[in-house]
Amino acid sequence: MDPFDSHSAERANLPRNMIENSMFEEEPDVVDLAKDSAAFPTFPALDPDEVVFEPRTSRLLVRGLGENDMDEDEEDCESSARLLGMSFMNRSSSNRPNSSLYTRQAPPRSCSRPSARTMVVCVLFLVIVASMTMVLYFLPGCTFTKAGCRRPNKTTPQETVYPNATNGELFPWAQFRLPHSIRPLSYNLTLFPDLDNMNFTGRTVINMSVLHNTKRIILHSDNLHFTKATFKLGDGEASDVTILEYKPNQQIAVKFSAELKAGQYCVLTLDYIANFSHTYGGFYNSSYTEKDGNKSVLAATQFEPLSARKAFPCFDEPAFKATFLITINRKPNYMTLSNMPLAKSTNISGGLIQDEFEKTTVNMSTYLVAFIIANFTPISKNVSNTQVSVYSVPEKKEHTDYALNTTAKLLEFYNNFFEIEYPLKKLDLVAIPDFLAGAMENWGLITFRETSLLVGKQSSPLEKQVVASVIAHELAHQWFGNLVTMSWWNDLWLNEGFATYMQYMSLQAVLPQLDIGNLFLAMRFRVMDRDALNSSHAVSTEVNTVEQVEEMFDAVSYEKGASILLMLNASLPDQQFRKGIIQYLKQFSGSNTDTDDLWNSLTQVEVSTQHQNVSEMMSSWTSQKGFPLVTVSRKGDQVTLTQEHFLLTSDNANHTSSLWNIPVTYINNSCSLAPECKQVFNLKTKTGTFKLPESVKWLKLNYRNTGFYIVHYGNEGWAALQDALSNNVSVLTHEDRASLIHNIFALSRLGRVSFYQVLTLLNYMSKETETTPVMEALLQLNNIYRLLDKRQEHRLATRMKSYILQNFGSLMDSQTWGEEESVSKQELRAALLEMACSLNQPNCTQQAKDLFKQYSNGTSRIPGDLQRVVFTVAAQSDEDWETLLYMYAHATYDADKRKMLQGLASTQNTRKLVWILKAGLNGEIIQTQELPLVINTVVKGFAGYLFVWDFVQENWDRLIEKFPVGSYAIQSIVKSATSQFSTQAHLDQVQGFFSGLKERGSQMRSVQEALETIRLNLRWMDQNLPTLRKRL
Ligand SMILES: [Zn+2]
Repeated sequence: MDPFDSHSAERANLPRNMIENSMFEEEPDVVDLAKDSAAFPTFPALDPDEVVFEPRTSRLLVRGLGENDMDEDEEDCESSARLLGMSFMNRSSSNRPNSSLYTRQAPPRSCSRPSARTMVVCVLFLVIVASMTMVLYFLPGCTFTKAGCRRPNKTTPQETVYPNATNGELFPWAQFRLPHSIRPLSYNLTLFPDLDNMNFTGRTVINMSVLHNTKRIILHSDNLHFTKATFKLGDGEASDVTILEYKPNQQIAVKFSAELKAGQYCVLTLDYIANFSHTYGGFYNSSYTEKDGNKSVLAATQFEPLSARKAFPCFDEPAFKATFLITINRKPNYMTLSNMPLAKSTNISGGLIQDEFEKTTVNMSTYLVAFIIANFTPISKNVSNTQVSVYSVPEKKEHTDYALNTTAKLLEFYNNFFEIEYPLKKLDLVAIPDFLAGAMENWGLITFRETSLLVGKQSSPLEKQVVASVIAHELAHQWFGNLVTMSWWNDLWLNEGFATYMQYMSLQAVLPQLDIGNLFLAMRFRVMDRDALNSSHAVSTEVNTVEQVEEMFDAVSYEKGASILLMLNASLPDQQFRKGIIQYLKQFSGSNTDTDDLWNSLTQVEVSTQHQNVSEMMSSWTSQKGFPLVTVSRKGDQVTLTQEHFLLTSDNANHTSSLWNIPVTYINNSCSLAPECKQVFNLKTKTGTFKLPESVKWLKLNYRNTGFYIVHYGNEGWAALQDALSNNVSVLTHEDRASLIHNIFALSRLGRVSFYQVLTLLNYMSKETETTPVMEALLQLNNIYRLLDKRQEHRLATRMKSYILQNFGSLMDSQTWGEEESVSKQELRAALLEMACSLNQPNCTQQAKDLFKQYSNGTSRIPGDLQRVVFTVAAQSDEDWETLLYMYAHATYDADKRKMLQGLASTQNTRKLVWILKAGLNGEIIQTQELPLVINTVVKGFAGYLFVWDFVQENWDRLIEKFPVGSYAIQSIVKSATSQFSTQAHLDQVQGFFSGLKERGSQMRSVQEALETIRLNLRWMDQNLPTLRKRL
C-alpha cells in the first residue's frame, strides 16, 4: 500500500517530528509460542495453542498478565510482587483476556543492584512465587497455556481468562493472533451488494484442513451479522452450528464437543448481512458527481491491513494464504472487477446478473483480496502475456493513457529484473474517486486515488513523476508482498521498504527523465529527521494490537526500509543484491518470510571473492531504532571515526549503547566526484581508524549520501569543507552538498554545532544553483522562519526573511513562469517561487496574480508545477478566493483540484479557514479524504495554526471515526496540528489533551512524536535565539 495521499514532494516537505517516552522504548519479552515454534505455514508438530506451558520464572508469570505500570526508577521485586498479586486479581475478576486494547506492556525489571530492604523483599517474593508456581503446576489438569488455563472445573479462578462472547458464553480464545490448529485452503465467496440500501449479504464457504487436534475454529469477523452457519466434517452431513463472537479481538468461534483430528478436512459455510463501511476500510460505498451533475454510486474494497474481516469472515492474517473463488451479483447498469478475470456472467432472478470470477491460481493473503462494483471504463493493452487495463470513471478515460504506457514499461522491467513472470493473466489499475490511501496493491486489481493514476493531457512532468512512482511501487508489490509475503505485520518493511526502494530503482532505469533521484534523496533526509527521535522504532518491531498494526504504515517501514536497502545495495559487489533477491523470491514464492530469510538469501549468493555477510551487517539496522552519528577526527595521517546513536532528546541525554555495522564511504579533495573515488571503511565497533596522507585537505564521508548515518567533521573538518565549497561548488556532487546541509542542520538540532556554524556553511549558497542543496537549505530555513513567526518574534522573522532573500533572491528572480520540461528545474523553481511569494516578494506575487487572472478568464494555462503557488497567492484576496472555490467545485481533474484546495486552505481569513476545516470534515464540498491535506496546509499560516489545534481537539471523536487510531491519516493530522508549537504553554496543552484521550489515541507513537518535537523546538529556540539575534 502507498498510504501517502499527496504529492511525494509535499510528503517530503511534511514537518517530520518526534519524541520519547522511555516506558515504550523496549518491548517486553512476552512469550509468544506461535512465534517460538516453527515458522508458519510450516506448522509445528504440536498445535501451539494446545501446548502446555510451564511457568519457568516469576518474570514469566508477570508477563502476559496485563498492563503494568512499572516506570519508577526504583522498580524492584517488591512492586513486581504487588503487580503479580494485582494481576491475578484482575484475571479473576475481569473477563478481559489481556491488557487494554491499546497499550504496550512495560519491560519487566530484574533485581540487580538492590538495596538491603529490597533484597529482603526480593527473597521473600521469590519464595512466594516459587511456592505459587509449584502449587499451580501440580494442580491436576491446570496448566498455563498460551490461551490460559482450560481446566474443566468452572470454579477455578483461572478459568475466567477466557472472555465472554456476545451471547454470554465463554469465548474459547483469548489472544489477538489466531491459533494455528486450523488452516484455510480455499474460500468460496458470494456477495449480493445492494447499492440502493447501502448494505450487502454474503455467503462464505471455507474449506479447511485440521493441522492439530482441536475443539474449536477461530477466525476473524468485524460487524458481520450471521444469519446461518453450517459445518461439515469430511464426507459427513452438514449441520447447523452456533457462532460465538468476541468483538474486542474481532474474532468468531465455533466450538465442538468432540475433537477435530489432525489430517481431517472440513467446511464452514456462513451466511451474513452487513452494512457498507462508513470509513475507507473494508467494503465501502462511495459516490461521485458526473459532469452532467448526476450522482453515481460505487462500492469498492480496501482490506490492508485488517479489514477483509469487514467484508467476509476469514483467517485475516497474512500467513493464512488460500485460494479464492469470488462471485458477485449486480444490477445490469454496473460492472464488477476482482483479482481474477471474469469467468462467466449469468442472468439470475430479479433482473440481476451474476458475475463469477476465475478461481485464483495462486495462494493469496486475505488483505490482497479486492472487488469493485461501479460504472468504470477501461483502456487495455497486452504486455508479455498479461492483459493490462486502466479503469476510470467514463469522463476521465482520456486521462488514463500515461498510466497504461508506464505500467507496460514497468511490468516488462520487473519481469526481467526479478526473472519471474507476473503470475496472473490480467492486471487492472483502477482510479477510484474516493480513496484514502495513495494506492493499494491488491493482486491483479490495483486501486488508486485519482491523483495517483490519472494524468491530464497538459499535465506537467512533476505530475507524471507522482503517477509513475505510485505505479512503480504497486507493481513491485506484485512480487514483494503478493508473491512473497511477510509472516506478520512486525516485518511490514519487507513489503513496503522493498516496494519503496524498487519504485526509485525501477524509475531510474526505465524513466530517467523523471529525475526521481532528487526525491529519493529528500525522502532519506526526512526519514532520518524522524528516526532520530526517541519515539521511533526498529524497522522490524513487535506488534500486538489493531492500532499497532495500523501504526506500522509509517516512514520507518517505508522510507527507512528503502534507505537501508539502498545502503546495502551500494555496499555489495555488483549483482549480489539482485541475485540475492531473485533467489529470495524464488525460494519463498507463494509463502511467508521474516527479515532473517531475506538476509540469509542475500548472504548465500556468492558473486565474488569479497563475500559479505549480509545478516551480520543488516541486523544492526533492522533490530534497533535510530541510526549512528559518525564523528571524524584527524591527527597527522590518522583518521579516527567514532560512532554513537544520533538521538534527539530534549534533555540532551544519550543513554543508548547501540552500535551499527556501518559501511562508511569517503572521498577527499584529490578525487571526489566519480564513483571510483569512493573508498570504504567498515565501522563495526565504537571507534575505528584508517590512514590518509597528511596532504589531504578535506574529507567527505557518506559519498552521495547512500548511507543511513550523519557525519560530524569537527570544527576544522567543517571549516575545510566550507572553504572548498566557497572556492568551487563543483568539488562535490550535488547529493554530497545537500548531505552536508542536511547534516549540519541536524547537528544544530542535536546541539553539537552552533547556529553560527550552520550560517557559515551556508555562506557558499549564493553560488549554489542545483536543486537538491537549494531545496534542503530552503526547507530548513523555512522551518525556522515559521517557528519564529508563530512565536511572534517579529524582528527575527523579518531578519530571517532578509537572510533568505539575500542568499536566494537572485536565484528566485532568475526563475521563469513558462512551460518547463526538466523535472529537476520544475522542482527547483516551484520551491523558490513558493518561498518568494510566501515572503511577499512583489515580483513573485504580481506574476502569480496576473497568471491567475488569465487562467480564470480562460486565456492562459498555468504550468503544473506553478499551480500551487499561483492559487496560494490568489487565495489571499477574498474575491479571487471565491473564484477559486467556484473552480474547485467544478474542476474534474483531481490533481488540479488538490492544488486549488491547497490554495483555498492557505487563506489568512479566519472565517474562511473555519469553514474549510468544517467542510473537510463534513465531506460534501471537500472530500473527507482531503482533510489531512487541508490541515497540513492551514497549520502553516499564522492565522490558522491555532484554529487547527482547536479543531482537532473539538472534533477528535469524529476524526477517529473517519481515520482509525494509528492510521497514517491520523498520524499525519496529529503531527501537522502540533508542528508549529515551540512554547511551554503549547506543550502543556498538547500533553493535557492527548493524555486525556486514553484508548482513543493517547498511546499513539505520533502523539509521542508530536510532544517530543515541541520540546525540541522549544529547546532549539532557547539555545539559538541569542545567536540568531546576534548573527542573522
Ligand atoms: Zn506499498
